[in-house]
Amino acid sequence: MDSEPQEHARQIINLGQSNSIASVIMRELRDETLQTDRIRFRNNVSRLGQIAAYEISKTMNFKDVEIDTPLSQATGKEFVSQPVIAPILRAGLPLYEGMLSFFPQADSAFISAYRKHDQYDGFEIEMTSISCPNINDRTLIICDPMIATGQSLLTSIKEIFKLGNPFEVIVASVIASEEGLEFVAEQFPKIPIYTFAIDPQLNAKSYIVPGLGDAGDLSFGPKIQE
Ligand code: URA
Repeated sequence: MDSEPQEHARQIINLGQSNSIASVIMRELRDETLQTDRIRFRNNVSRLGQIAAYEISKTMNFKDVEIDTPLSQATGKEFVSQPVIAPILRAGLPLYEGMLSFFPQADSAFISAYRKHDQYDGFEIEMTSISCPNINDRTLIICDPMIATGQSLLTSIKEIFKLGNPFEVIVASVIASEEGLEFVAEQFPKIPIYTFAIDPQLNAKSYIVPGLGDAGDLSFGPKIQE
């Protein structure tokens, strides 16, 4: 290993803090006149997945590899080990797809969790399945585009820790609420969370405000059951 990973200066990394191409993508994602174009919505989330992957890659471990160019020799870089990328289904899929395109040799885990609503706008997180490769000693990147209450993320992290002992866990999201970040950080303060916006509020149904609406519905169409 020839280089130390950069320290995560803060555990919440707000990639939307300064203006960039990501700010323009975020505007399109939030705009109700544009977000109904489903392929555009998914593509935009996927592009954020690529940007997040690039930023996360700066913190990973690299090794030198000697290579021959057509003209001479050079020293190149390889990851010490490939990450495992884990979307929380179904809303996490476009973010995952973008991330996987930047980590094309990564393994994947799939976490199936959903909000099971009661008649009072409350809900519990139902975990239906996890399919997971070996995560021991590897970087595990969980894709959760909307960290609202943080409950599905927290449940996912706890469940995945039962399956192995990753070298590190990193979360990638699009929008996180203040409350959700606080909730997750209380239990897992050392897990870095990359996000493109931190929104101030949740509504009565625990949707992020201003947010963008339901990321799963906008990506894949409305569900018939909650
Ligand atoms: N899930 C979403 O898709 N949107 C929210 O605002 C909260 C959770």
